[in-house]
Amino acid sequence: MKIRYFDNAATTKVKKEVLDKMFPYLTQEYGNPSSLYKLGRIARAGVEEARKQVATLLNCDKNEIYFTSGGTESDNTALKGIMYLEKNKGKHIITSKIEHPAILNTCKTLEENGYKVTYLNVDKEGIINIEELNNCITKDTVLISIMFANNEIGSIQPIEKIGEIANKRGIIFHTDAVQACGNVAIDVRKLKIDMLSLSGHKIGAPKGIGALYVKNNIEFKNLIDGGHQERDKRAGTENVPGMVGLGEACKIAKSNMHKHIHQLKELRDAYFTQISNNLSDIKINGSIKYRLPGNSNISFKNMNGDELLARLDEKGICASAGSACSSGSHMPSHVLTAIGLTREYAEGTLRVTFGDDNTKEDVDYLVTNLIKIVQDARK
Ligand SMILES: *Cc1c(COP(=O)(O)O)cnc(C)c1O
Repeated sequence: MKIRYFDNAATTKVKKEVLDKMFPYLTQEYGNPSSLYKLGRIARAGVEEARKQVATLLNCDKNEIYFTSGGTESDNTALKGIMYLEKNKGKHIITSKIEHPAILNTCKTLEENGYKVTYLNVDKEGIINIEELNNCITKDTVLISIMFANNEIGSIQPIEKIGEIANKRGIIFHTDAVQACGNVAIDVRKLKIDMLSLSGHKIGAPKGIGALYVKNNIEFKNLIDGGHQERDKRAGTENVPGMVGLGEACKIAKSNMHKHIHQLKELRDAYFTQISNNLSDIKINGSIKYRLPGNSNISFKNMNGDELLARLDEKGICASAGSACSSGSHMPSHVLTAIGLTREYAEGTLRVTFGDDNTKEDVDYLVTNLIKIVQDARK
């Protein structure tokens, strides 16, 4: 059976151009970038070209990019790297209730180590309140970490306003842009972002590679001790093919951004329209206006998300549920709880996230099957 993949927020397929670019670095160009002979210098050149490509996507300097093992490590490095270094200045972080576990669990560890964390509420569309942010800043606040766009419901935060406030109050602003990267135009200078996390496997590069942007004048402590790689900020022999792949993915993201956004939006909106027109008792979660182009998140009243996924899987359709059902507990996710979704809706949540490989025919196939599955279950 043909697989129809609608889980691009979970991971994406490595793009062909990315793989082609990586291939030589997995085969004949296998040098260690720290080696001074030619084979090493070729690997080094690959890494530095990739760094430039990542920087170009974000409109920053290449020396502001540090490669990591992915979004999770970038988030950990940003939060711990700043808080541990600045512990004498203050111990307060502001974040939101709907962050990815990479942020929330890092905050939990920091709390266990004597730090104080404020978790901002979000409204029913999943957007933070700027006034609330302003009001909870204290003289102890060192860092604000608010995700650019949410991985479950796709809502995009008022990043420019947050950057402005942080900048004015002398607080460092970090954003987890793992979902936003490549799907929203990001200019870290214009948006006054001090630190930003991104991940390869969400944008057509492999798993296990990511980057952290840190503005030039900001000091942070390294998490991993070892050699001098990444200007002493991330020890360990470089994942050269991964870095080269991430660079290429960023280059493609930049040149294709407009077309990519348009294409995903069109598929997503067709999906929203067809589902809304054919099924009652549904809720579209997240903001319509401030939303990732490829994200849809719909709750079907009195349905079971796990069952929906299983029925779709039988048809070769890959999608994601909106509750932590993997544990069998059927607890709505922290994001759906934060937007105030009632249980009768939350339990029947389906996240469908579109990607470059999806076609209109794929969407029709999805919609036809999904409508039938929901109607049959409700009979
Ligand atoms: C996927 C994701 C991460 C984690 O990135 P990894 O590279 O898988 O570690 C962090 N934040 C958000 C918003 C994500 O979607």
